[in-house]
Amino acid sequence: EKQALRAYKDIIPKRADGTIIEIAANLGSLEEIEAAQEAGAMGVGLFRTELLFMRHIHLPSEDLQAETYATLAKAFAPYPVIVRTLDIGGDKPISGIDFPDEENPFLGWRGIRMCLDRPDVFKPQLRALLRAAVHGNIKVMLPMVSGLDEVRATRALIEECAKELEAENKAYATFDLGVMVETPAAVMIAPMLAKEVAFFSIGTNDLTQYIMAADRLNPTVAKLNDVTHPAVMAAIELTAKAGVEAGIMVGMCGEAAGRPDLIPAFVGMGLTELSMSPSSIQRAKKCVLALGQVGDQEGK
Ligand code: PEP
Ligand code: MG
Repeated sequence: EKQALRAYKDIIPKRADGTIIEIAANLGSLEEIEAAQEAGAMGVGLFRTELLFMRHIHLPSEDLQAETYATLAKAFAPYPVIVRTLDIGGDKPISGIDFPDEENPFLGWRGIRMCLDRPDVFKPQLRALLRAAVHGNIKVMLPMVSGLDEVRATRALIEECAKELEAENKAYATFDLGVMVETPAAVMIAPMLAKEVAFFSIGTNDLTQYIMAADRLNPTVAKLNDVTHPAVMAAIELTAKAGVEAGIMVGMCGEAAGRPDLIPAFVGMGLTELSMSPSSIQRAKKCVLALGQVGDQEGK
């Protein structure tokens, strides 16, 4: 089967109406670039930056981050590389950030919440992203967003960083800013969020955990961690509808994005980007292609 799937590596899958469905890779380090390219990834839909922060004894410098993001951007240009800003909490401590002891770290000080409280951590990352954007198609997305204020505060910080770089005579370029939709709050305000961001990426791993109120790491409630539960599918559909109506790109980067049994539903809802582990890419391309052929008059 693996051999037969290789035929789909360079396919650019389209929806029946001709819209390209971008099948992108989820990556956590530069070491994975080659595997993603080998698989035929149309860019990166989620670059998790946590590893970069966990690998070092100190917080990674702005220069090291700029170099890392630029390497990614160059490797996949002209396809986009969506870098997610630091998404870490008390369950995964890193040196350089003191996390408080929390009863429920998954409901606590993590992701964008932590970053906005720690501009000394967040600003070097945003500056690095602005600098790397010169070298390719960088997009940036924020994790764990639950309110418009978080998007606005981040935008203000980005502007501040751009001004600094300007004053320092350092090359930079602006980038599209999007959000992960992975909290029920973000789903409920999706129509408003869609007016202020360039794209949505649905994080089904956390969205399922928070919609179902079932810890994603707790085996006792594993049965509830089901993306096909009607409550979760309804949340995905609401998000897609809000994004499509506002005319912004809606993608998905949770595990569900690579599931052949669910891809038809997601494409039907209007998602145009699916990001997954490189090993799922060819199968996903085959799956989308099968949909496109249904309505293709020219038989391409
Ligand atoms: C998600 O929550 O669906 C997601 C893609 O992010 P992570 O698994 O890194 O939380
Ligand atoms: Mg998540």
